[in-house]
Amino acid sequence: NSFTDFGLAAPILRALAATGYSSPTPIQAQAIPPILAGRDVLGIAQTGTGKTAAFALPILHHLAQRPLRAPRGGCRALILSPTRELASQIAENFRTYGAGLGLTVGVVFGGVAHGPQLKALAQGLDVLIATPGRLLDHIQARAAILGTVEFLVLDEVDRMLDLGFIRPIRRIVAELPRRRQNLFFSATMPDDIRKLVGELLSDPVEVAV
Ligand code: AMP
Repeated sequence: NSFTDFGLAAPILRALAATGYSSPTPIQAQAIPPILAGRDVLGIAQTGTGKTAAFALPILHHLAQRPLRAPRGGCRALILSPTRELASQIAENFRTYGAGLGLTVGVVFGGVAHGPQLKALAQGLDVLIATPGRLLDHIQARAAILGTVEFLVLDEVDRMLDLGFIRPIRRIVAELPRRRQNLFFSATMPDDIRKLVGELLSDPVEVAV
């Protein structure tokens, strides 16, 4: 019951030790092994359970194992989040856990100027965290080009649907390669989310805490 059991890359273990985490939370213990094994995962977990690290750690591990340069406007891991606050927190988590990996992390959300986000996208990113509406704007402006995404995370899916993001989500997913690893996290699992899971995830491992 320790992070070392997962086989995560050494710089990630060092970052976790520096952060002061001693052992994985239940959602991390259940979700990290199947994500490392390349499976799609459906996680039913509230915020506060450690779900961000549950997807961030294995994604960082995969990215570090196979270093690749994302093209201009592109990214390797795309995380969709309902709010700018959550998007910023997720970005902060990726930067903390990935501090020793030399990966690039960018975040885009609405309500702020486009310019700095365009600059971030133009470098090509390892990890992009985005709210759906603003990301769709960037896609339509050809500033975000999502054909190289290897990992898709939908975080707080129930909140994203409550906020009316189902159409932007579908339009974003239509831009992604078919071959990719999908991770969904939601506190609740109503019928509309089950339907989306059935459409977008492939034989998912379901974990609940
Ligand atoms: P989250 O559910 O991702 O919002 O995480 C809730 C809080 O738990 C955050 O403040 C994390 O920094 C913290 N956290 C995540 N994983 C662990 C862990 N394994 N041990 C202790 N704290 C953790």
